[in-house]
Amino acid sequence: MSIRIQNWGRSLDFTASQVLYPTTEEEVLRILSNATYNHKTVRTIGSGHSWTGLIATPDMLVSLDHWQGIISVDAQKNWVEVKSGTKLLKLGNDLWNLGLAMENLGDIDVQSIAGALNTGTHGTGKHFGTLATQIISITIALPTGELVEVSETNNRDLFKAAQISLGALGIITRYKLKVVKAFKLEYTSKLGKVRDAIDNFDKYNNEYRNYEFYWFPYTEEVQLKLVSETIKPIQDGGFMRDFDDIVIENMGYKLLSEWSRTHPKFYKPFSKFSARGVPKGTWRNYSNKIFATKRWVRFKEMEYNVPRPRFEECIQEIMDTIHRRDFRVHMPLEIRYVKSDDIMISPANGRDAVYMAVHQYLGMDYEEYFKTIESIFWKYEGRPHFGKMNTMTKDQFLQVHPNWQKFSNIQRECDPKGIMLNDYLKSIL
Ligand SMILES: Cc1cc2nc3c(=O)[nH]c(=O)nc-3n(C[C@H](O)[C@H](O)[C@H](O)COP(=O)(O)OP(=O)(O)OC[C@H]3O[C@@H](n4cnc5c(N)ncnc54)[C@H](O)[C@@H]3O)c2cc1C
Repeated sequence: MSIRIQNWGRSLDFTASQVLYPTTEEEVLRILSNATYNHKTVRTIGSGHSWTGLIATPDMLVSLDHWQGIISVDAQKNWVEVKSGTKLLKLGNDLWNLGLAMENLGDIDVQSIAGALNTGTHGTGKHFGTLATQIISITIALPTGELVEVSETNNRDLFKAAQISLGALGIITRYKLKVVKAFKLEYTSKLGKVRDAIDNFDKYNNEYRNYEFYWFPYTEEVQLKLVSETIKPIQDGGFMRDFDDIVIENMGYKLLSEWSRTHPKFYKPFSKFSARGVPKGTWRNYSNKIFATKRWVRFKEMEYNVPRPRFEECIQEIMDTIHRRDFRVHMPLEIRYVKSDDIMISPANGRDAVYMAVHQYLGMDYEEYFKTIESIFWKYEGRPHFGKMNTMTKDQFLQVHPNWQKFSNIQRECDPKGIMLNDYLKSIL
């Protein structure tokens, strides 16, 4: 039976002829061999939280939702082996029960671990790379019919390609991940000035484990998010924190955004108003509770990183351009720091990177806004987040990613019949 699929950000709307929920690795291999035999395209879906065309297929869509949980653990050596469909929320809770945690995370926990790793999902902090840097080994079902385990010491090229692989090499079934002992974080959110947030970018990154800021267009204001490790007791704000989170940050923001969508003239006051409404306070809790936020207001998002030394110039040009072009936008820009890595097509490959994300409320025009900001990113050697909206072509990927051709070659070796490639992937690989 055909099934209509839409992603979270409503940038994809397609019909797959079959959605399959394997419960064993043998079933995963059978799906791949069926697809090869019948010349069908197979794509794997995590939680559908990417905006780019990665999961679209007219044929077989594979969900690992029935393949979740921790398989084995060594709490002394700090690793776990986990099923690839495990959602980050479940993984965080299961690790916590074992006295363990992931060292860093992004700002939501609804993705599957494979979905998050495959697009280079990241958090913030100068000592932390993308989440894929936490991988020790990967087990992958290849379209050629093998189930292989790869690591730094075992088939290194395939390992480096599979760490961030856009789901293009095969279906990943297991990850062995580096973890750390469970730890608490102290999180302070406050209103600050954009000049301070930029000029003292290194200072904040040195002082805090995880530093990020949101800049509100048409204002001088930012929300500063400052996070440090702590051994102090939990202080989660109880009911009032939940009330703030659900009612003010999500329901209130949704109302304001709807108002902005239907009242074209008010985007500037709304941006100012949003800045004034940022949560102010300090909270302490276990790391997985602090990293994850609720996102009930839907939006379109584009995110690029630029090399650390080019950050100040790039953000200044973006801010000046938004003001000069007077784009109708009330949603903030998010700025984060990610440490360099050696993953084959990681956006942070070979360079410490500053990620900058622009957002537009669903239903409001984003094309001209994103196109203009994207061309600024390109001037500063920008590389896009693979899960977020971008218009990069194969030639452009070849220019900014030194290993793009090598990755494409490995893709062809793993998948000689091209069953993992949909139209989007064919266009960029
Ligand atoms: C509200 C919101 C907040 C976000 N916050 C952040 C953030 O803080 N930091 C950040 O970096 N990103 C963030 N993102 C982006 C998000 O983390 C990525 O787009 C991520 O890939 C989504 O995970 P998913 O499970 O939904 O995967 P999907 O979008 O469903 O799939 C992503 C890719 O993974 C592949 N895949 C999934 N499972 C497998 C498997 N078993 N084997 C092989 N390939 C597989 C898919 O084929 C696809 O190529 C956010 C997105 C949203 C909507």
